[in-house]
Amino acid sequence: MQPANSLPRVRLLATGGTIAGTQLLGGKRGYVAAALSADALLTAVPQVAQLARLEAEQVAAIGSQDMDETVWLKLAARAQAALDESDVAGVVITHGTDTMEETAFFLNLVLRTEKPVVLVGAMRPATAISADGPMNLFNAVAVAVHPEMRGRGVLVVANDEIHFAREVAKTNTTQVGTFRSTHRGLAGLVHSGRVHLYAAPVRRHTAASDFSIDGLAHLPRVEIVYAYAGMRPELIRAAVQAGAAGLVLAGVGDGNVNAACRAAAAEAAKAGVIVVRSSRTGGGVVERNIEIDDDALGFVAAEELNPAKARVLLQLALTRTRDPRAIQEMFHVY
Ligand code: GLU
Repeated sequence: MQPANSLPRVRLLATGGTIAGTQLLGGKRGYVAAALSADALLTAVPQVAQLARLEAEQVAAIGSQDMDETVWLKLAARAQAALDESDVAGVVITHGTDTMEETAFFLNLVLRTEKPVVLVGAMRPATAISADGPMNLFNAVAVAVHPEMRGRGVLVVANDEIHFAREVAKTNTTQVGTFRSTHRGLAGLVHSGRVHLYAAPVRRHTAASDFSIDGLAHLPRVEIVYAYAGMRPELIRAAVQAGAAGLVLAGVGDGNVNAACRAAAAEAAKAGVIVVRSSRTGGGVVERNIEIDDDALGFVAAEELNPAKARVLLQLALTRTRDPRAIQEMFHVY
């Protein structure tokens, strides 16, 4: 074993979630997200001291359903500050699983670094039978200090799997295997701290990204409207009236909506709101000009990004331009 002071430094940024949650045995009652501090999480996994010198910082203490742009901007700033320290090898972020994919993708687009940034959570509270948090945290630290994980963007580690921020999605309400990377597969596996690398990320990220949080106090407002049989256009108009600069349609099938909603969305696009067509299906590519004439209506196709991730990219895109063609190009690149 390496002497402790020669181990790599890793900054642990804690935000809450079930990994820091407690629950009385025998039911849902008594569940409290974010009840444990960052230091308490580390105390539960003394084995991480064999991998790295961890320095814990509490950035937030929330269930990730309460994650918002204020915490994102603070988290990104704290992560960037840690990454800019030359002898910090990587950053591990504990986070609730509900919105982890959005936070991971946001950080993947704004952090300027080649160092590993690893988000980790748990599906079972720290006090549950077979809590999954301690092993997930141990594995996350192992990934954060692994030299070959540099340059791979922001990662999510859970259930022995390593996912790319762009690809990962939560797909199950309760199971520990909830995270899936359905389109382009896993970054790799990690068993008891042993890392097996499978793939490199395919799209632009972190150090190569044109986005940043520099000078950003807020993100542009982007709303998501979910499509269904018999959908009515009022919610599209309401989003525009509420001041949305962008609108993501969680469309049926190939990012589709009915004629009335298409007309309302086209009206919004004509008024300068960026309309991005994504899909509620959970898989597949939404392509331009197949079922809907995006050129004529001024829409943007989300390609593989699910509605929540399309919203993140659109928020950042709107910090650069309001030209739908330029934004479509960003959906090809990121
Ligand atoms: N809603 C909580 C959260 O996202 C619980 C889910 C979890 O952390 O696994 O923080």
